[in-house]
Amino acid sequence: MKTVTDPAILDAYLVDASNTRGSAEALVRPESTEEVAAIVRHCQAAGIPLTVTARRTSTTAAPIPDSGWLLSTEKLNVLHALDDAGAGIVLGDYQDQVEAAGMFFPPDPTSRNECSLGGAVACNASGARSYRYGPTRPWIRQVEVVLPDGTVMRVDRATPSPWPVPEWQEPKVKTAAGYFPATNFLDLLIGAEGTLGIITRVWTHLLPLPAHVLALFAFFPTRASMLEFLAEARAGRQDRSAPLQPRCLEYFDRRSLDLIRSRVPLTNADCALLIEVEHDGEPPLEAWFDALVRHGALVDDTIVADDDAGLARLHAIRHALPAAVNEIIARTGVRKVGTDFAVPDAALPEMLDRYDDTGMPAVCFGHIGDNHLHLNFLPTTPAEWKDAKDRYMALARRAVELGGTVSAEHGIGRLKRAHLEMMVGSAQVEAWRAMRRLADPRAILGRGVMV
Ligand SMILES: Cc1cc2nc3c(=O)[nH]c(=O)nc-3n(C[C@H](O)[C@H](O)[C@H](O)COP(=O)(O)OP(=O)(O)OC[C@H]3O[C@@H](n4cnc5c(N)ncnc54)[C@H](O)[C@@H]3O)c2cc1C
Repeated sequence: MKTVTDPAILDAYLVDASNTRGSAEALVRPESTEEVAAIVRHCQAAGIPLTVTARRTSTTAAPIPDSGWLLSTEKLNVLHALDDAGAGIVLGDYQDQVEAAGMFFPPDPTSRNECSLGGAVACNASGARSYRYGPTRPWIRQVEVVLPDGTVMRVDRATPSPWPVPEWQEPKVKTAAGYFPATNFLDLLIGAEGTLGIITRVWTHLLPLPAHVLALFAFFPTRASMLEFLAEARAGRQDRSAPLQPRCLEYFDRRSLDLIRSRVPLTNADCALLIEVEHDGEPPLEAWFDALVRHGALVDDTIVADDDAGLARLHAIRHALPAAVNEIIARTGVRKVGTDFAVPDAALPEMLDRYDDTGMPAVCFGHIGDNHLHLNFLPTTPAEWKDAKDRYMALARRAVELGGTVSAEHGIGRLKRAHLEMMVGSAQVEAWRAMRRLADPRAILGRGVMV
């Protein structure tokens, strides 16, 4: 087993997208499942904490430990078959190869070109298309996993969990907070953030690639007009015969539009929606423009894309936003404070109002189809950072009171444990700790993550 201890190399593995810095004594980069198992057994025997690190796009410091060894999945990146890949493969590279063969793997976190397939499984990542297709979970058929004691297993939905899984009721919104209340082992591992096993290989469910996708970047003069339009666009979720059948509904507030001003038209918009619709060759433009006009959108400013190049341009705009936020955060050197809450439909207007009142520069954007928005505070001083943290916590409490979740997609990691406890209560956290103790009595794997 080759360990790397050179601080110059280790350093690059000790920071994630939250700008959290960590510490580790050694890095290992196994090339096979057998090597992973040998490393796990060594760490168990020696009592060395072991943290899985993939591409470190985590926003919650999940892959950033304060001590022990780091196990990078970067060399576990072989594509065995279209629906069977090493966990370390970059998700976007995997999807490009799948799509080149006319097939489709729906999960599309905005970070898909930077994050790994295994990271998306470990965090049950979502993306814009999750509005129609759900998060990563339903698209995973089987995984190969190395358990905390070094046992290698292939796990699917017929595999029972080796440990009793505490019951609990997840909030009835999109959520990635806490262990999934499953009795099958596959669903427990998905979203467990690398705390119950190291996923080395992933078998997926694929769909035929949608024939055509229409995208609309629509601008609204007021929030009220956007919300009215949103209600009509979302009606198709319950009624598949409704004329508007979006696969994603993404929101940009005015402050977000200002941040990407060089890429979008100069409008008087208060906010915008990026909408994608799959179709079989006849883009349903009339139905969408009809609804936009009826709800008072700034229709002349609408950007329409109905080919791959146009779609890629709009995705680049969408991606530019979190990337711009991360750049600002990295420049100022303070840690990112960003929400990942989802709330029930009825609570959306209240949360939007609360997201306006930040007292400092901020932007709000995200997956409004699921009432799941990212409010990113942009503090420039330690005092503003502290204020942002306090405001964040007040918003988290309110989201939970309204029946929502503290994390809809980014997970808990090391930074959001207190928020998880606030949401589920200390007895639930203690039940999960007890499960972890059964799985990993020396607390080797992912120490400090989730609970
Ligand atoms: C600009 C930007 C946009 C983002 N957009 C989204 C988004 O739209 N949706 C979304 O859900 N998230 C998003 N994220 C968060 C992040 O990209 C996802 O959580 C992603 O799934 C993490 O993958 P990774 O390969 O970078 O994993 P890492 O960050 O390296 O690790 C994340 C966690 O997963 C564990 N892990 C990783 N691989 C394995 C494995 N093989 N086995 C077991 N455990 C493992 C690690 O131990 C750690 O706990 C975004 C992040 C950024 C920076």
